Amino acid sequence: MNTLTQQYDSGSNSAQGVVYRASCQNRGCGFEFDLKITPANSGCLSGFIACPYCHRHGGFLKPQGRIGDKRFAAKLYFRATGSARTDGDEEDV
Ligand SMILES: [Zn+2]
Repeated sequence: MNTLTQQYDSGSNSAQGVVYRASCQNRGCGFEFDLKITPANSGCLSGFIACPYCHRHGGFLKPQGRIGDKRFAAKLYFRATGSARTDGDEEDV
């Protein structure tokens, strides 16, 4: 499952940037994905992104520390409530 991440090494053009291994904290999801951060898109780290699996919007990254060369772990958190809808039992911890 994790073998897809090997292909970043070719080509010197992509030498800049780091990769965040983000794990979605949306309840019932837990999807992990690699998010490449370059100087061009470093705004991701301070803005909101959506999980590519459960497509929940409004997630923000919390770095969890380095896990390798130019690789960092991060968790994708979502605000508990506050927006749009209340579909019944979304809010037991
Ligand atoms: Zn997700």
